[in-house]
Amino acid sequence: MNIYHPQTPLEAVKLRKENAETAVYLAGGTDDLRLGGAAEGKDLIDINALGMDKIEICGDKLCIGARCTLQDLAECDLVPDFIREAAYFCSSLARRNAATVGGNLGLRRDDSYLAAVLTASEAVLDSMTPHGEKEKKIGEYLQSSCKALIMNIKIDKDRTGWVKRFGNTAASHAAVIAAQSGDVYALSVHGSGLVYGHSPEIAGSLTYVDDITGGAAYKKYLAETAFTLRR
Ligand SMILES: Cc1cc2nc3c(=O)[nH]c(=O)nc-3n(C[C@H](O)[C@H](O)[C@H](O)COP(=O)(O)OP(=O)(O)OC[C@H]3O[C@@H](n4cnc5c(N)ncnc54)[C@H](O)[C@@H]3O)c2cc1C
Repeated sequence: MNIYHPQTPLEAVKLRKENAETAVYLAGGTDDLRLGGAAEGKDLIDINALGMDKIEICGDKLCIGARCTLQDLAECDLVPDFIREAAYFCSSLARRNAATVGGNLGLRRDDSYLAAVLTASEAVLDSMTPHGEKEKKIGEYLQSSCKALIMNIKIDKDRTGWVKRFGNTAASHAAVIAAQSGDVYALSVHGSGLVYGHSPEIAGSLTYVDDITGGAAYKKYLAETAFTLRR
């Protein structure tokens, strides 16, 4: 395993491109550095000298640095309450203190703490590609295999909405996470992935599977009911 210490986001993303099959970014390391995690047998591109660790208001937007931890997000008064609530879905304080927002999105997990809530919030990612900086809608990023380095996540600063998590315990994998903000609905369903759109009917577009988090029929019921009850 090699470890690289780039000094700029552009250097980091170029390193990842050069080592496409083997490299991952090292942020909080809660996944990268665990046994069987993303970095097992891979090359690490340490992004911890690159800043990207502030939460601030930029005009009418809230700008969240990709290296902010889930605990930073949970504690910050500038962050809308429903997004802070999603950061607390990570029930371990130790992990919230290390795990970053960028790492959470970069993993594209179907039980991601933040994917549904930030997708419903129509977040836009400022990312670094080998060709320079680009903006990307979060939903598009999450449903692609884009390897760009996320630098910041931007949302409207006064965004409101709600998020609901269903799981057997606070510490087990979520079966379903549902979020709504404005007229955008988003669902992360374990074993099925992320879906979003402008109607609660999105719940009907997924293929549900039986797995450790629950039966397919149970998850479908949760996904549909979460939106029905909140309407
Ligand atoms: C016991 C345990 C349970 C967990 N349960 C959950 C869970 O239920 N839900 C959940 O969502 N996560 C879970 N995780 C995974 C993980 O802790 C979090 O998703 C965390 O937010 C990852 O952040 P990190 O900074 O530690 O990422 P790292 O481990 O440093 O990196 C993880 C991945 O993200 C990519 N990455 C990192 N930063 C960026 C960036 N800026 N731009 C693009 N890609 C980037 C890397 O390439 C790497 O592949 C769990 C982890 C553990 C150990």
